[in-house]
Amino acid sequence: MTRVLVVEDDPQLVRALVINMQVRRYEVDAVSDGAPALRLAAARPPDVVILDLGLPDMDGVDVIEALRGRSRVPVLVLSARQASDEKVAALDVGADDCITEPFSMDELTARLRAAVRRVRETPAAPGTTVVETDEFTVDLLAKKVVRGRHDVRLTPTEWRLLEILITNPGRLITQQYLLQEVWGVSQSIKTNYLRVYMAQLRRKLEADPAHLRHLITEPGLGYRFEG
Ligand code: CA
Repeated sequence: MTRVLVVEDDPQLVRALVINMQVRRYEVDAVSDGAPALRLAAARPPDVVILDLGLPDMDGVDVIEALRGRSRVPVLVLSARQASDEKVAALDVGADDCITEPFSMDELTARLRAAVRRVRETPAAPGTTVVETDEFTVDLLAKKVVRGRHDVRLTPTEWRLLEILITNPGRLITQQYLLQEVWGVSQSIKTNYLRVYMAQLRRKLEADPAHLRHLITEPGLGYRFEG
């Protein structure tokens, strides 16, 4: 059974989360504050954490940092706010995903499943050098992308972006991270570069750029690869 730790101070949302998780056969622990969450996570290690960023006692970002100090447990962040520095900070200290309220329970459980699966499938170490989707195949060792029966030619920058995204399947990668890794800059001043290169990648890899299935944008936050 998958154990979920819910850290949320809104009792109504907690109730809804607990009921929905239990229906889907998750085992759920719920606490309303950061400090008890950390204690409970140590005593009964969860398989996945759902964490509200706005807690009464602790900053959610500090909770993630404390968790990361001792475990790789996937952390899904709930945020009532629009895309904000706080969400980016949460992702940058190691949150795996970020969901903005209002969200549907279906969406939440889909992201939850993906986060748990990702951890169980890791380490994505040697061996997993080929990533396949229904649209294209990427060979990470050979640095080759094939779509249909044809090789797709990528520029070094496109390749580096794609490589980062596909080696973190399902995970939301922040704009800042990509800018730093690919261009060595952290200023969001260059986010237009990122948009241009992502658009190029999509033209080369997505069947229908109006309905993206693999290279997903999270507005204001970053990008995500779905296999
Ligand atoms: Ca809250």
